Amino acid sequence: MSTLHLYNTATREVAPFTPIEKGQVGIYLCGATVQGEPHIGHIRSGVNFDILRRWLIASGNKVTFIRNVTDIDDKILHKAVHENEPWWAVAMKYERAFTDAYRALNVIDPTYEPRATGHITQMIELMELLVERGFAYAPGNGDLYLEVRKLPSYLTLSNQKLDDLLPAADADEKFKKDPRDFALWKSAKPNDPSWPTPWGPGRPGWHLECSAMAHQYLGDEFDIHGGGMDLIFPHHENEIAQSEAAGYKFARLWMHNAWVTTAGEKMSKSLGNSLIVSEILKKYRGIEVRWYLGSAHYRSMLEFSFGALDESVTNFKRIENFLERISKSGEIEKAIDSEFKVAMDSDLAVPEVLALISKWLRAGNTALAEDQMDIARDYGSKIRGALDILGCDPFDPAFNNNGGKVEQSAGIERALDGLISFLLSERDEARSRKDFQSADRIRDRIAELGILIEDTNQGTRWSVK
Ligand SMILES: [Zn+2]
Repeated sequence: MSTLHLYNTATREVAPFTPIEKGQVGIYLCGATVQGEPHIGHIRSGVNFDILRRWLIASGNKVTFIRNVTDIDDKILHKAVHENEPWWAVAMKYERAFTDAYRALNVIDPTYEPRATGHITQMIELMELLVERGFAYAPGNGDLYLEVRKLPSYLTLSNQKLDDLLPAADADEKFKKDPRDFALWKSAKPNDPSWPTPWGPGRPGWHLECSAMAHQYLGDEFDIHGGGMDLIFPHHENEIAQSEAAGYKFARLWMHNAWVTTAGEKMSKSLGNSLIVSEILKKYRGIEVRWYLGSAHYRSMLEFSFGALDESVTNFKRIENFLERISKSGEIEKAIDSEFKVAMDSDLAVPEVLALISKWLRAGNTALAEDQMDIARDYGSKIRGALDILGCDPFDPAFNNNGGKVEQSAGIERALDGLISFLLSERDEARSRKDFQSADRIRDRIAELGILIEDTNQGTRWSVK
């Protein structure tokens, strides 16, 4: 029996994972700053950490999963001016766009999804504690800073030394004891939203919310903290600094997913609309996009191209076709194969899982060709079990049997229902005028299309074979 091993960014080692409380895992994942439509690079961490969550659940754990929403930030305020909307309207609009994208890709909703602006009280309490413990100072300009030199462990996550760190030129530098100190709280600027504090009105710096909200929902110490690797410094270093200065133990294990790249670079907004998730979902099913995004190991860069996406979709359709064929002889069970378990337990080795799925698919198709249905079904069960953990089970009702195009699928279903009812009434009419040739032709044509007609007491029902 293998046990779960995970890579820890803090120790730069793969080590056995043991939750603080047996059978219970707490995860905090840094979520989106809701300042624009999510593109495919934004959504990868949601998919990667969803695979981790599903595997932890399948391994017998109860998972409390927190993913925050940063709904106040310079970029949101900037966008609000640009779009001539209140800042909260901008934040709400893009928060919904992110939710839609996560759901279309079958990412399970977080247990709690706290917004920064809903936790100002917790942030003020944390800042008061940091002042009381002598780690935070208010130089009188309305800002509050954290004194990083007082924290010996500062920068150990990113493996840097404070004295090597060149701080960015900063207008507030003259107020700081050390130019590397960072703002916990920023004083109010004219026309910007602000909240009252003992140090004057203002708004939170970006890092503060995660320390406050992780503490609120997961307590003093929790199992896993995650995010994109671009968050290691400064965001996660600063979260650790705030939390340790407050006396919290904070996260035991740090996990970071790599970027989606285009032409070797981190995906950027300048690439335009074609990479926005909602645009991609007009051409591809959610299950296909999910399969592609989840196909690389979470610590490997994923070089995005439409060519690679198309190739990945072709491969996925082969798997779907196989499962569809064998599902005709009955529902396919989901089995956790021992080789699959070993791969997942090895720091979520998805590429090895994909190799296993290919192997099972070949063997399953061979069995089908030789009419060995029981063997084919066994391979089908292994494949379906693996796809379920990857969040790509074609029979998952979350995809509404149509890969996340929920609304479109409902519309198609309504239209089909109308068409089939129309054909059936034509058949009935032909029968009633004793034109059995026409009635039979309609029946045969419907059957050829793979539609099953069933006459019941409640009337005629149809289903897709
Ligand atoms: Zn964070």
